[in-house]
Amino acid sequence: MFYTQLEAAKEGFVTDEMKIVAQKEGIPEERLRELVAAGQVVIPCNRNHICIDPEGIGKALRTKINVNLGTSRDVTDYDSEMEKVNWAIRLGAESIMDLSTHGDTRIFRRKLTGECKAMIGTVPVYDSVIHHKKDLAELTAEDFLDTIRLHAEDGVDFVTLHCGITRQTIDQIRKHKRRLNIVSRGGSLLFAWMSMTGQENPFYEYFDDILEICRLHDVTISLGDACRPGCLADATDVCQIEELVRLGELTKRAREKGVQVIVEGPGHVPLNQIQANMELEDSLCGSAPFYVLGPLVTDIAPGYDHITAAIGGAVAGMHGASFLCYVTPAEHLALPNAEDVKEGIMAFKIAAHAADIARGIRGARDRDDAMADARKVLDWEQQYACAIDPERARSIRDSRAPEKDHSETCSMCGKFCAVRSMNKALNSEYIDIL
Ligand code: SF4
Repeated sequence: MFYTQLEAAKEGFVTDEMKIVAQKEGIPEERLRELVAAGQVVIPCNRNHICIDPEGIGKALRTKINVNLGTSRDVTDYDSEMEKVNWAIRLGAESIMDLSTHGDTRIFRRKLTGECKAMIGTVPVYDSVIHHKKDLAELTAEDFLDTIRLHAEDGVDFVTLHCGITRQTIDQIRKHKRRLNIVSRGGSLLFAWMSMTGQENPFYEYFDDILEICRLHDVTISLGDACRPGCLADATDVCQIEELVRLGELTKRAREKGVQVIVEGPGHVPLNQIQANMELEDSLCGSAPFYVLGPLVTDIAPGYDHITAAIGGAVAGMHGASFLCYVTPAEHLALPNAEDVKEGIMAFKIAAHAADIARGIRGARDRDDAMADARKVLDWEQQYACAIDPERARSIRDSRAPEKDHSETCSMCGKFCAVRSMNKALNSEYIDIL
């Protein structure tokens, strides 16, 4: 009996989920099976997430985007979190990560896996404190594993586990003296737990037990990068790369046990280091799908970090990242509201699309070519139809409409419209400007 997509693929079996993904991506089912068997594509779909519409993640496929949401101690409003979920689905996000750190997390998590067709991800280390109602230092290794089990039973499709941070990292961080230390929330919790208890990271020490839990429900492990750089100065440093080497080893162990794996990546990275980061991950982690947060290409734009991150996301995607975690304008400042969520999703849909074109994903440019054709003939309805956000495009044009005698143009150039002039010139028509 197959428990996971990876096990089925290795045995030469094409699952229903593989058939759906192959059809969506426009690639042969057998080719997709080979990619899943090699671990280069994952299909995160927990057996208990009945309503999921499966998606594949891997650089041979369209780039997918994830939307983070969830409650915090200061903002505990599940209705507003559900509003964000609905926006995310409507705008085409393929994945939602519930990062709730306050309130009744299980009810919300079960609502997500009970109603959402998108992939659902969580970070069980956050929930360990809440579920067991214990402070960090009182939690045991078994408590952490119990939380993973709980999330797996609740139908979560992928879990971020910071398995690569170990006691060795504690020495490394102290010795290396980073500019901004550890900025991963899960990573900092495990660092603190190890420091307080003197024990090894349970997600590393009991990795084989975790693999058994994940295998049973086909939960994909997203190997978290606890040492992802939180500023440009720390990018690609020894702490980040040392952890990445370990993530590569863990990827291999997971695949051998039939568990699907993606690897998480930075963070804050200067543009000129992004390609090297993607190639390192590809080489060290056996071409496992790479899931990046941004990366943000400058540290100085709070309020605009959906833009700094989308620039990095597009370049990362061009060089092989296949899963982009969105960033909103509220990054580094506050819990995002619904408007921030929308801005973040649109920025990352654009980044993912730009990456797909650059990677030569089949059919990725078709809509761009249709847009060019519509622009050539000044067909505004067709331009809206091709637009990534038709509503916004229409409302901007309508709010500043051109005068009636040149209504086919827009108010940017009016009768100086280059497209209009060229169409008329090539048709041997008179071009009136005044
Ligand atoms: S008026 Fe200018 S901006 Fe507008 S469609 Fe024509 S060339 Fe493009």
